Amino acid sequence: MSTIAENIENVQNRIKRAAEKVGRNAKEIKLVTVTKTVDVNRIKEAVEAGLRIFGENRVQEALPKLKEIGKIALWHFIGHLQTNKVKDVVGSFELIHVVDSLRLLEEIDKQAKKRDIVQEILIEVKLSEEESKFGMTENGLLPLIERASEFENIKILGLMTIPPFFDDAEKTRPYFKRLCEIRDEAEKRGFRLPELSMGMSHDFEIAIEEGATMVRIGTAIFGERK
Ligand SMILES: *Cc1c(COP(=O)(O)O)cnc(C)c1O
Repeated sequence: MSTIAENIENVQNRIKRAAEKVGRNAKEIKLVTVTKTVDVNRIKEAVEAGLRIFGENRVQEALPKLKEIGKIALWHFIGHLQTNKVKDVVGSFELIHVVDSLRLLEEIDKQAKKRDIVQEILIEVKLSEEESKFGMTENGLLPLIERASEFENIKILGLMTIPPFFDDAEKTRPYFKRLCEIRDEAEKRGFRLPELSMGMSHDFEIAIEEGATMVRIGTAIFGERK
């Protein structure tokens, strides 16, 4: 069994190689270390190895970890977000990856206003009809981005997607390509969307080749989740 520090080094090398393959600088790519189901002691090993951005998908599980690890880390919310949980997420998480409705935008803006902060978000995009349950459809995306840019206490940084799972990771490539195209189309209309959150343990190299600026990686660092 390899240690967490060894896994991290391996993932960082793979990120670097994937970036170099397409002439990108690996510094443009943020590693979001996914710590769902991972206990605080193992997260601390990742902190010691130099990692600083962590992703959690459940508020109740995450909040004690945020408290324990402290300000040294930045936390991203990557799980499906229900409106009634927004109040616990806003302000505690640096970036929310999963905003996919006007209702969520309204609630995030409201909670951010209360705390007098600007909450950074990504819009989650659903690129396949059957497979992913959450995310805004391509057709609904531009109207949603337009609305998002009207809220004073929200800053939209980019887009996120979770493609369907394929044993052959190469099959995810069209989804990553599409997210990048959609971003480019939106930017032509004047929106600034620099961040693309795409790619997980089994397909992050392909996502990087297609333009990912954030990869969300759990298993390749901490091993299989129980
Ligand atoms: C769990 C999770 C990940 C990490 O998945 P791995 O396959 O363990 O790397 C990434 N993104 C989201 C949204 C997740 O829920």
